[in-house]
Order: sequence, then C-alpha cells, then structure tokens
Amino acid sequence: MTNPILSDWNTPFEIAPFATISDDDFTPALEQAMQVHDAEIDAIAANQDTPTFANTIEALEAAGEQMDKVLSVFFTVAGADSNPKREELQRAFSPKLAAHYSRISSNKSLFQRVADLWDRRDELGLTDEQARVLMLSHRGFVRAGAALTGDDDARMQELKARLASLGTSFTQNLLADERDWFMELAEEDVQGLPGFVVDTARAAGQEKGADEPVVTLSRSLIVPFLQFSPRRDLREKAYRAWTARGANGGETDNREIATEILKLREERAKLLGYDSFAEYKLETEMARTPDRVRDLLMQVWEPAIKRADADADELTQMMQEDGINGPLEAWDWRYYAEKRRKAEHDLDEAALKPYLQLDRMIEASFACANRLFGLEFAPLDVPLYHPDCRAWEVTRNGEHVAVFIGDYFARGSKRSGAWCSAMRGQAKFPKVQAPVVINVCNFAKGDPALLSYDDARTLFHEFGHALHQMLSNVTYESISGTSVARDFVELPSQLYEHWLEVPEVLAEFATHADTGEPIPQEMLKKVLKAANFDQGFQTVEYVASALVDLAFHDGAAPADPMDKQAEVLAEIGMPSAIGMRHATPHFAHVFAGDGYSSGYYSYMWSEVMDADAFAAFEEAGGAFDPERAKSLEDNILSTGGSREAEDLYLAFRGRLPGVEALLKGRGLIAA
Ligand SMILES: [Zn+2]
Repeated sequence: MTNPILSDWNTPFEIAPFATISDDDFTPALEQAMQVHDAEIDAIAANQDTPTFANTIEALEAAGEQMDKVLSVFFTVAGADSNPKREELQRAFSPKLAAHYSRISSNKSLFQRVADLWDRRDELGLTDEQARVLMLSHRGFVRAGAALTGDDDARMQELKARLASLGTSFTQNLLADERDWFMELAEEDVQGLPGFVVDTARAAGQEKGADEPVVTLSRSLIVPFLQFSPRRDLREKAYRAWTARGANGGETDNREIATEILKLREERAKLLGYDSFAEYKLETEMARTPDRVRDLLMQVWEPAIKRADADADELTQMMQEDGINGPLEAWDWRYYAEKRRKAEHDLDEAALKPYLQLDRMIEASFACANRLFGLEFAPLDVPLYHPDCRAWEVTRNGEHVAVFIGDYFARGSKRSGAWCSAMRGQAKFPKVQAPVVINVCNFAKGDPALLSYDDARTLFHEFGHALHQMLSNVTYESISGTSVARDFVELPSQLYEHWLEVPEVLAEFATHADTGEPIPQEMLKKVLKAANFDQGFQTVEYVASALVDLAFHDGAAPADPMDKQAEVLAEIGMPSAIGMRHATPHFAHVFAGDGYSSGYYSYMWSEVMDADAFAAFEEAGGAFDPERAKSLEDNILSTGGSREAEDLYLAFRGRLPGVEALLKGRGLIAA
C-alpha cells in the first residue's frame, strides 16, 4: 500500500488528507522523500551538460516535492496537535533534516554549477525574478561555506559544530537556572496580589512540590509579581534572581560561553570574507549595515529616554508618597507604573471582553481584507487534523485564490504562542500552485469564545502574515509569500494590526455577545489610549538590548562581553531604574542560536515600517484608501522576496521609512 502522505491527495484543493494519515506513516514517508530528494540533487550535480538556469536552478526549485508534503503535514500536527509519539518523531527528525540540508548546501559539484551560472549571469537572458533566484541561491551556498576548500573548509565545519553545541549549552544552563530558583510565599506575602497572580503562583508551587504558592523565574509569573506585589523586599529578591540567570557562577554560568560564541562567530565571518559577524548577518537583511541599524535605534532611543526620565520622576514621587526614600530601583518600576496605569486609564478587561467575540473578530479581519483587496471568504467543509479547525475558500472575482485554515483554540497538545504557516506555498513553477495557509492561535474556548484585546491584535497579526502568503504572485516558490528578509517579514503582519484599531472597524464588529450593542465610545477611547502606556520604559529596555547585541557583533569580538555591555550602557546613559530586556548571560535570542544574533533590532525595524506604512494610508485618504491598498498589494504583499526589501518599500511609499509615525504611535512625541 502506498503511503497516504506520498500518494496523490484527491481532496478539495489538494489539502492534506489528514484523516487517512497515521503517525506510523511519517518515518517511512520522510525516509523515502529524503532518498528521492538526494537522488534529484545528485542528478542535478552530476549533469554533464553545461549549466543552464533550467537544468540547475529550476531543477533545484522543482526537487523535493515529496519533502514539502511530508514536512508540511508533519510540522502542522507536531506544532498544533502533538502527542508523545509526535514529540519523539520530532526529536528523531531534527538531526536527520539538519544533516540532509547540510549535505545539499555543502555539495561542491552542485555549487560549481551554480557558481558557473552566477559568473555568466549577464549572458543568460534571465528575467528579473530569475536573476534574483540565482543570486539568492548562489549567496546561500557561499554563506554556508560551499566556496571554501582545504583547511578553511575543515575549520568552517569545526566552527559550525562548536557553535551549535555552545548554543545548546547556553539554553540548557538558562533552563537549569530558571528551574532551580523559586521563592515561597507565606500567607502574608500574597497580600495585595490579584487573584490570577496567586492562582498562577499556587499552580507553580504545586509543580515544584512546595506547600505554598511560589514565584518562579518564568516571565509569565515574575512580571505580574513585580507589577503587583506591594512588598518591596520580595520584589528586590525576585528581581535580583531573575536578572542573575546565567550569571550565578558554577556549572550553569553562561558568561564564558558567550565570550567563546562571539569569538567563533567573528572567525566564521572572516573565513567567509566579511569584516565582522554583523556585516555577514546584515547582508541578507533590509537594514544591510550596522551603521543603519544603530542610526535607527538611536533615533528611537533619544525620545524614549526623555520620556522614561520624565516617567521616572513621577514614579519616584509616588514611591515617596508611600514613605520610601532613596532612588527608584529596577524592582520598583513595574509596581509604580501599574499603580499609575490604574489611576490614569483603568481599562476594565472584564467589561471589554464580551465585545470581542472571536467569530466577530474573524469577520472583521475578513471584512478589512475584502475592502482593501476584494477578497471573499466562504466556509469550506473539509476534514482537517482537529475538529476545532475551520477552513474557508478565498476567492476574488470568482477566482480561487487560496484556502485559509484557522485553528484558534488553546489545548494541551498545542505549543504556546501564535503562528502562521503555509501548508502549501504559492508558485507557478513547475506548475501553478495556490496557497493553503494556516493561522494557529491559543485563545480560550467559550460559548461564545471571547477575546482579550491582545488576543484580537494577535488574530489580526497572524492574518496579516496569511495575506502575505495568500496574495503572493511570483513564479518560484523559494521566494514566494513570507520568504523575505527577517527584518521585513513582520511588516505585513504588524501593519494589519492597525486595521483592528480603526474606530469604524471596532464600532461595527466589536458588538456585545448578549445584547449585540456596539462597543461604547468611552470604552473604545480607553482601549486605543491604553495601548501606548509606559512606552518610555518598554522602548528603553528593548533598545538597550538591541544596541548591546549590535555592539557584540560589529567589529572585533569583545574580550569580555560583560565589560562591553557595561560600556555600551554607560555610553547611552541607561537609567539605573530600567534593566535591559535581556542581559547578556540570558540573552537567548542572541546566544541560543543564530536566529536573532545581530538581529534583535529587527522587531523595532519592522515596527518603524508598519507605523510609517499605515501613516501612508492616513495621509492618502483613510485606512481603506483604494490606491494605497492596491500599491500595498502590488509592491509588498504579492512580491515575496522577488526584489530587495528596500526597493519594495520604496515602491510602495516613495521614500524610506521614517521613525516619526512610530514615535507618535508609542506616545513618545506629540501626535
Ligand atoms: Zn509575526
């Protein structure tokens, strides 16, 4: 019998036939798909004909079709509906997949063919998109070290292996420190804490086998504790433990690991011909150079620090009114900021919730896409991997565009967070393929299901990513949809969040679950205003971390990263009452792997762009201005990675993004 994953999918729109697939099918399907892919790659590499775009790059694009099928099905269920068997499979697959793809990227004869094409690129008569795909393919091989030979090649392999193992140790040390520390709370210690914090602390206590509720170093517990506990002594104790993660001396100390990682990254970048690791990392990003990143961060830093200083004065005064003298400390900020928030704009989340029904918010996200891009959504009845999943057929002018799947509810088998993935990416080569896109969220179930305001933002955010996939209109899958630079990929998603905040959208779709009444104007105003509370603090703690990350990788690796961190913070005048969002010994974004190293700035970069891009609508004639919507689709949502991100943005906006809209949006300068 053929494996149901690898056989033809005779389902509506060729959606994976989840109902016929069992967990025992994954391993044989993956083994077979990898063999087929290897054979395809070998055939391309061994081809004796002169390399052409068709026999090399297009052949690479067409290869691995079975891999796509297996991996899209497997990773969908492993993330959204796991079980012990699937977890075990994931552990088994991850080294196999790493080895598989590294075999391809270090295949010398394959690289020779790509390099040969690259040398002759001007004579090949390529379309712009083909030239782009060739450039990306060649650059990918070079960056992976395929052009290195002899000792350099051997050293590169050593560096990669050592860096991978250091990253793992960094993560494990951090987990160990987080696991080991907890603080028991006696009856009098929980006074003043809201019920949900006490509940979380009690659940954490049970997990630790303690009789009392406990505070742990998990962000979801310690942050509310720092926010709400009136006990200054306990806040200090907890804060000190939290910020000491990875720097407690002994076996789990991460400081020497960080030093070695930075040194080896620099060596790796130099082997590949770059001056620094930051230069290597930023080559593929929209920002491109460390100077441009620093420049952007400093433009945000200046007004943020001004606001934070003014806020610190207010909070210090509140603290003095509590009878505490001396300077405001880092363990005081969140507590007094929360008091101030409550006094200045208390938003009653419980009263707001009935206005944010999941189904109405889904409708709202569809209605905006209809007004902006003419998309229509019709429910689609297909069996998926879990009864909670819903599907829609997306059309425009009667033509099929995509299938959209929403899997909204939290459950034990789903990992936390929210994400968007393409179960099938858009492409026209080797055949026309319409996207199948899924949004996975973790909203609480209910009848009707109600969202918090953050949940509703998440819904719009993920739907923005989905639009980027669904409206994609390129030839080659390797550059379709969200296959863009890391500092550009959050633009469509963060931008789409703005439509939730358009007052007419909330007025129409935020209707009360029982009465059907639209949200009261007063509440609407409060919702919109609460969004930029305490942005001085939040911007400062984030930008400080981003600047330290950049300094670590720009230029020679520091002999002592802790000294370097202190130096950077002193230079920018970091206030003592605000800690870095992530300090070096627990800065997992930067040290657990390569993902966000020299790239922590990218959240802010995207935010600058989304604010600036939405301002373009407002300047033009409102949130639904049809010309801007068309330009957004033509230049950004449909283009994938077919051009440089900067060119795409320029084509949409007519200029590069400026920070003004972000500063206004965060309330850091006057609107
Ligand atoms: Zn996102």
